[in-house]
Amino acid sequence: MQRTLASAARCEGVGVHSGKRSAALFQPAKADAGIIFTRSDLAEKPAAQKELRAACQYLSGDKLSTELTNDHGVRLATVEHIMAALSGLGIDNARIAIDGPETPIMDGSAKEFVSACLRAGIAELPPPRKTLRILSPVRVREGDKYAEIVPARQFSVDITIDFADPAIGRQHYAAALSPDIFAKEIAPARTFGFADDLENLHKAGLARGASLENTIAIRDGAILNDEPLRFPDECVRHKALDAIGDLAMAGFPIQGAFRSFKGGHALNHALLRALLAKPDAWRIEREESAEAAPAPAPSRPTAEIRQ
Ligand SMILES: [Zn+2]
Repeated sequence: MQRTLASAARCEGVGVHSGKRSAALFQPAKADAGIIFTRSDLAEKPAAQKELRAACQYLSGDKLSTELTNDHGVRLATVEHIMAALSGLGIDNARIAIDGPETPIMDGSAKEFVSACLRAGIAELPPPRKTLRILSPVRVREGDKYAEIVPARQFSVDITIDFADPAIGRQHYAAALSPDIFAKEIAPARTFGFADDLENLHKAGLARGASLENTIAIRDGAILNDEPLRFPDECVRHKALDAIGDLAMAGFPIQGAFRSFKGGHALNHALLRALLAKPDAWRIEREESAEAAPAPAPSRPTAEIRQ
């Protein structure tokens, strides 16, 4: 069965890049609706113009975050942690109203969004769940970095990062995803950044809302936050969180194994675009048919790509 939220729940905080306060209102949606964001601050616009569907063709943004832009030029920044929470909990359909140009960053993890969804409750909808089943491997590479997705019975992530700063160093995290594993092992992992980059980010109009309350700050092998690390490998777990949120832009839960080396948003987006541009590498199936016969009438999300 497909899943949505049973009621509404709200989170409020500051946008990590804009520095502006915003609130996210999580609400139920009908079967097959997918994940739809709404810019509720744009009161004067017709509903269709302020809606942003979470789908690959609306992806914009850069290597620092994942952003959606709709056909009317309306944008919403930093959607990846909300997308990760919904995907990690197996929520197929939801509407999320944001009253500003960027989602609230909360504590830099997906923990508060998971809590909001669990507060709202999860409801089942009669139609069967659809999954995007990987049929053949797809890989993208940039120098020594790569991201790939290969056929597998279950969605899993396998992530390696390698930073020169010994506060991070080389970290590896792998997990077969379930809502429980996501909520306990991945959702609480906070975003991270290097304190010495902050000045340049501010000059670029970014990270204006970043603080020790929402970002693990690293300088010269040390963590500057009062709060200790939530996991010894919290940074690579956050990369898993980001990848789960980015891959959720496929529009369907992925049945396949994701692996990345020194990856990030840009590489995740490139992989998703490469995957959807290769229609023989995947198929949309009803979930219960995944181990039996393929679904009789496969449908596909559009593979139209916007750079
Ligand atoms: Zn992130």
